[in-house]
Amino acid sequence: MTAPQERESLYGLLPGELETLLAELGAPRYRADQVLHAAYREFAESFEAMRQLPAGLRTALAGRLDLSPAREVRRVASDDGLTTKLLLAMADGTLIETVLMQYPPSKPGGRRRSTVCVSTQAGCAMGCVFCATGQMGFERNLAAGEIVAQAVHVGRLLRERGEHVTNIVFMGMGEPLANYAATVKAVRILTDPRCFGLGQRHITISTVGVIRGIDRLAGEGLQVGLAVSLHAPNDALRRRLVPTAGPHSVREIMAAAKRYFERTGRRVTFEYALIAGENDSDETAGELARLVRGTGAHVNLIPVNPTAGGFRRPARQRVLAFERILREAGVNCTVRVEKGAEISAACGQLRTDEAGRALIAPGEIPVREGASAPARGLLRRRPSPAPSRSR
Ligand code: SAH
Ligand code: SF4
Repeated sequence: MTAPQERESLYGLLPGELETLLAELGAPRYRADQVLHAAYREFAESFEAMRQLPAGLRTALAGRLDLSPAREVRRVASDDGLTTKLLLAMADGTLIETVLMQYPPSKPGGRRRSTVCVSTQAGCAMGCVFCATGQMGFERNLAAGEIVAQAVHVGRLLRERGEHVTNIVFMGMGEPLANYAATVKAVRILTDPRCFGLGQRHITISTVGVIRGIDRLAGEGLQVGLAVSLHAPNDALRRRLVPTAGPHSVREIMAAAKRYFERTGRRVTFEYALIAGENDSDETAGELARLVRGTGAHVNLIPVNPTAGGFRRPARQRVLAFERILREAGVNCTVRVEKGAEISAACGQLRTDEAGRALIAPGEIPVREGASAPARGLLRRRPSPAPSRSR
């Protein structure tokens, strides 16, 4: 169900659009920079808080635009505090998930990476059998402003810790290329130096393989990374895991990825959710190796998160054997470091976590001694019953 928002979100506007609105309100152009600075650098939570603006303009803007922060319904952190999963309510009450994943610096003295995983839809129509979001079905597309607001929310949270967002991946709930216009607009706002200001190369869009969308994206003149969720090296297997893959064959997906690389110069990553007994045999690894070898693409193996759909992750030895076959064939390959598995930090799982495990409401955040404010990534998990399975 789509509930129309009364006022457009400021986070959904490009600077030029804000300037047009300000002109309508009779305000000079330079006010746009003041508004954007307050919204994206100071993370102002209302126009009222923008004291550098005249009172009349603050009121006029508040009448036209929404700037209320996303409401945090739940916050859950992994035991190591590096993964924080948020359940956010949009203005109409729609619930979506946003995840913050932090990684220690790769070299001494380096800075740690803080990656935000944003949702582009509430639910998803693609129905991947191992994905909690896919099993939930499609609810609605998110507007560009709702996508940007997720990054802003995490930016605000990180600022309390003296940190900031370094990367954004479109790997949360939903299929970004099935909500194309909002996704691309969100990328433009997130990368505009006057808005969120993140480098384009620090953004990755993950798609289940919507070919038309990949080709359109290649022509946008953007430098964003592309990840394609392949999961299988042949159509029969892929259609079992991605039931809506029908019109998009593995061969066509490979060709679209190649075109993306040729047009943007950005290498594509293939994501491969490894599922025990489904797509993890030596034979399948060999087939995948032959498919990807020589393309320059990278394969990211993701041992499937076991709480979704009853599928199991392969034993460690199997994962390593699969990886070895790819490596020996010359394929660039990594196994995704498990992040937040114990808090169900895979796609769509917080919302569906009916067992209520590991849930801590924002007001209950435990604070470590010496921390000067709450929400420092210090959440602890409550003892919890085993997760329930839906099949
Ligand atoms: N719809 C897009 C982006 C969101 S899903 C896509 O499919 O690419 C982001 C990634 O999470 C995808 O690679 C998807 O296959 C993976 N994923 C979904 N459910 C998972 C699970 N239970 N375990 C591991 N990875 C999962
Ligand atoms: Fe949708 Fe991606 Fe989940 Fe598939 S894996 S159902 S495309 S969100």
